[in-house]
Amino acid sequence: MPSFECANCPKKFESNALDARCVRCGSALFLSSAGTTNPSRAEVESLPPGVWRFRGFLPEVADNHIVSIGEGGTPMLAARRLGEEMGFQHLLLKDETRNPTGSFIDRGSTVLMSLAKGRGVKRISCVTTGNLGASLAAYSAKAGVETEIRILPNTDHGKLYQMIAYGARVEILSRTPHKVRPEADAISISAANPFILEGEKTTGLEMIHDLGWKQPDAIVVPVGTGGHLAMIWRSLLQLHRGGLIEIPSCKLIGVQLQASAPIVEGLQASRRMASDEKPLTELEESEPIFKRAAVESIRESGGYGIEISAREAIQGTSLLARTEGIFAEPASASVVASLKLIKDGGLLDPSDTIVCVITGSGLKDTKTIKILSRTAKHVVTREDLIIKPVQMGRTKLKILRALSDQPCFGYGIWKALSKERSITTASVYQHLSELEGIALIRRSGVVRAKGRERILYEITRKGAEFLKITRSREGRFVVD
Ligand SMILES: [Zn+2]
Repeated sequence: MPSFECANCPKKFESNALDARCVRCGSALFLSSAGTTNPSRAEVESLPPGVWRFRGFLPEVADNHIVSIGEGGTPMLAARRLGEEMGFQHLLLKDETRNPTGSFIDRGSTVLMSLAKGRGVKRISCVTTGNLGASLAAYSAKAGVETEIRILPNTDHGKLYQMIAYGARVEILSRTPHKVRPEADAISISAANPFILEGEKTTGLEMIHDLGWKQPDAIVVPVGTGGHLAMIWRSLLQLHRGGLIEIPSCKLIGVQLQASAPIVEGLQASRRMASDEKPLTELEESEPIFKRAAVESIRESGGYGIEISAREAIQGTSLLARTEGIFAEPASASVVASLKLIKDGGLLDPSDTIVCVITGSGLKDTKTIKILSRTAKHVVTREDLIIKPVQMGRTKLKILRALSDQPCFGYGIWKALSKERSITTASVYQHLSELEGIALIRRSGVVRAKGRERILYEITRKGAEFLKITRSREGRFVVD
């Protein structure tokens, strides 16, 4: 019978359930009886690439129960252009966007669904904000298991379309449920499921294998729930216990968005770094289930926790795509954005071998695609080809001055302007659109306020220069 250890209390116990929780405190669990054999390097290498190459480290599954659609075996790519840009000579990317549904979670889904198939499970249910649902839906389809997925209204459309396409039954909830009520006769799966974590462990195993059984100097990984990071550390410990590698010596660097950085907060000041930017929007879950395990893993490895802003994560997405041809979602590209802080803070040496784990594809994240396409300089539309002189009256100058103090959204600008004289919001948006058209301002992101998405505008360099010229002279200017 599988034995488990609680992620949050010292309880250890055995259970046959696929969706077990701690019998004492109800927390998520780690499987402590992981690994059926103790495979040698040669035994691992004799199997084809993919998650099941590492089956000796995983819970036992019969051959005819394996539910696989080609997960794992993802490339480890040398990132020369990005490395040059960031000042690191040996930067590597473990590209998890290549998994069947575009996310590292497929590594977990293959293990869980294979066990579910072996036990004759007919239905599973889950509550998710995205990647987990898309992945479970695909693997359930392959296994012939019914899936019921409850999602929150802010779920990315790309992920929702995947769930629907794979044939899951999807219900949209109005808010996060406090308690998940499992469907009758269905097992309830969360991202914290210990068997999903076991599969995610193979990211670490595979990385070490890809490097010829050598450890890199550092592994940089998005934190999320903390589970993936903790499992990467556990994979190194397991390889060491099995005699396949030396004592784990590589630093784990966990990267989290500022909107949700409790794992980074759990570390001592000397072990954490934060950017100066303020958060724009929330892109990750705010309750890291494996905070304790993740904090301990980072500490034990001598690594660091890094907070970055959502804006920097989006910039990371763009930089990664433009330099290395990998389109990741912002939560994944946060690792790219963190490299600047790592370099500036001297946390790693420029000659260190660094592996960044790019956990998920940007293609399903339609909100980010919209932001990127708004800020892209090289998208030329028909509008750009028509030169439209713009009258720069007092209102536009006021808007520019307001934006030169700080970025703001349209409604905020309207509120400031309407204190002086009556002006409609439609008129403010018309001015903003014209200022944007002549590149004096630009869209810098999206904020969620009172349940609505608002576009944040900021002044461009051209706008700031224009303001400088006009500061001394009041009047009307024509700009094209
Ligand atoms: Zn417990």
